[in-house]
Parts: sequence; structure tokens; C-alpha cells
Amino acid sequence: MRVLITGGAGFIGSHLCELLLARGHTVICLDNLITGSRANIAHLEGQEHFSLMLHDVTNPIYIDGPLDAILHLASLPSPVDYIQMPIKTLKVGSLGTLHALGLARAKEARFLLASTSEVYGDPLVHPQPESYWGNVNPIGPRGVYDESKRFGEALTMAYHRAHGLQTRIARIFNTYGPRMRLDDGRVVPNFVRQALLDEPLTVYDDGSRTRSFCYVSDLIEGLWRLLLSDQVEPVNLGNPQEMTIVELARMIIALSGSRSEIAFVHPDASRTADDPRTRQPDITRARTLLGWEPAVSLEQGLEETIAYFRQVL
Ligand code: NAD
Ligand code: UDP
Repeated sequence: MRVLITGGAGFIGSHLCELLLARGHTVICLDNLITGSRANIAHLEGQEHFSLMLHDVTNPIYIDGPLDAILHLASLPSPVDYIQMPIKTLKVGSLGTLHALGLARAKEARFLLASTSEVYGDPLVHPQPESYWGNVNPIGPRGVYDESKRFGEALTMAYHRAHGLQTRIARIFNTYGPRMRLDDGRVVPNFVRQALLDEPLTVYDDGSRTRSFCYVSDLIEGLWRLLLSDQVEPVNLGNPQEMTIVELARMIIALSGSRSEIAFVHPDASRTADDPRTRQPDITRARTLLGWEPAVSLEQGLEETIAYFRQVL
């Protein structure tokens, strides 16, 4: 297949580029490097079946030749980034998705949207099945990301219904691993960096919020299986192992052999406003329809991640 990956120089995108090349496909990686990095794909540049296109998806996208699939990952998914860049976030989720879908239609390519568990907002149903419509504050600081992804899902379904486009929607839950940016602001890179520097781990508020963390190799396998399936309705992809943030902090301190302590801090209100209190995927649909479930334990995944951060620090 000849596949376009938008956001391909980012954390998840770069692993996906690698997976597809290893499986014999041709990959065009499109990115404007706003949060991604050329270093993430440096080892792929120069390969015969890989090319990089520096482009902002909020502008129309033109590609020569046929395309079999588009995996649309371009986005600003870290809360620190989207709170600092609210309009860019809304534009990439709306205009960017419109352009990626328009290209998919022109090329008659399969289209996969990288959506998010944030479409469930601060959920009132636990764990979250795909049938749950969510509890999102459209005007809060997180609304720019959540609503851009909800709009992206609506637009994707509209292209499917109006034009018969082959579309897929992955609702990705917290994913971590090598190539996350050190200063990305999300909890795993923050805690691992702090632990390796023997600095206090900044647990926000009382640390009782929960998340469920999926290792990147599991996630990209799920994305690829979903693309190849015939499942038009959204599919949750994530690891159902749920834990509190303070438990995660303790685990990272132990696994990295750090002397760090835990600091309970109260960041700027915009950082924790509408911060989901709990989050855990119901992955029945992925298990049944894709035969997929995570294989990497949190311990294994964190060890790989810590080893990567040790190298780059
Ligand atoms: P990331 O920031 O590493 O990757 C996003 C990529 O998109 C970056 O390379 C960035 O430069 C690129 N990008 C942003 N705006 C662009 C634009 N206008 N034009 C072209 N490229 C642009 O983040 P990630 O964690 O790898 O996320 C990848 C996708 O997965 C995103 O769509 C995100 O919403 C989704 N997702 C990720 C998680 C997670 O926990 N990592 C959870 C849910 C959903
Ligand atoms: N968090 C924290 N300390 C940090 C960064 C994040 O306690 O240094 C918390 C944050 O408040 C949230 C959880 O960790 O409850 C996950 O945050 P992240 O930014 O990774 O992503 P989210 O799941 O909120 O999109």
C-alpha cells in the first residue's frame, strides 16, 4: 500500500511509519514539525519507500500519484500545548481533518482518524464504551481539543455517509513510550524526566485522578488492524489497566531507582480545569472485532520509556 501519515514525525506517528515500512508499505510522512521532530524519523529518511513532506494540514494537501490509505494523526494532543495554542488546535482538528478527508475522497483512499478518549470528557460512565456520548465542557480550556476531535469524528462520519468513503475512527486512550517529547507536559514524560533528575514528581492536586496507560507498540498494532477492518463505528484503543496518578508516580520512582519524592502541587487552574477524574477504556469492541488487546505490561513499557529518556536527557 502507499500510505500517507499526517503527524508522522510525532510520537505515535513515527512508530507507525516504522511499522508500515517494516511490513513492506510505502510511507509518506506529512508533518509541520510543530510538536513532532525530524529526529523521530531521521533513521527512516533515505529509505527507498519513505518520504517526508513538510506541510501544514490546515492548508489544502496535494499529493502526486495514488494513495491507498491516510492515517490522520496531525494534532496538538498534549494539554500543555493545546492550552497554549488553542486556535491552532481547533484549526488542525477542523480544517486539517477536512483537508485530509478531501484528499482521501480524491484518491479513493481509506481514511483513519486518530480520535481520543477526550471525546468522553470527564466521564459519567465508567469504564467508557464507544456507545457513551461523553461529558465535555465546550467552553473550558480543554474544549479546544475535545471539540476539535468531536468535530473530526462528525466530519469523518459525514464523508462516509455522503460520499461512501471507507472511514475508521480510533478513540485512543493515554499512550506512552519512547519519542515522547521531554517537555511535552504530559504525565509520563514529566514524571520520568523528574525521576531521572532526582527532582520531585509533580502530582497535581491529591493525585487521585485515574488514567489507563497503553504502550505505543500495542497502540500502533491496534491502529493498523482497525484500518484493515471494515469497522466504521469508533473503536476504543487503550490498555484497561487503570491506576491513580500517585500510583503511577510511585511506580516510576521505583522502576527508575530514583531518589525523588512526590510533591503534591496545584498548577495554574487552566491546567486542571475539567481534568477527567477517571478514565478507563472498555475494549470489548477492539477485542471482538479486531482480535486486539494490549500485550505489553505497564512495568515493561515504563522500563523501555525510562531507558529512552535516560539516553536523551
Ligand atoms: P505528537 O504531538 O507527538 O504528534 C502530533 C504530530 O502532529 C506532531 O508531529 C506535530 O508536529 C503534527 N502536527 C500538529 N499540527 C500539525 C499541522 N497543522 N500540520 C501538520 N502536522 C501537524 O502527539 P501524539 O501523542 O503522537 O499524538 C498523535 C495522535 O494521536 C494525535 O492525533 C492525538 O490526538 C492522538 N492521541 C494521542 C494520545 C496519546 O496519549 N499519545 C491519546 C489520544 C489521542
Ligand atoms: N498530571 C500530574 N502531574 C503532571 C502532569 C500531569 O499529576 O506533571 C496529571 C493530570 O492532572 C492528569 C493526568 O496526570 O490528571 C494525565 O495528564 P496528561 O497531561 O498526561 O494527559 P490527559 O490524560 O489529562 O490528557
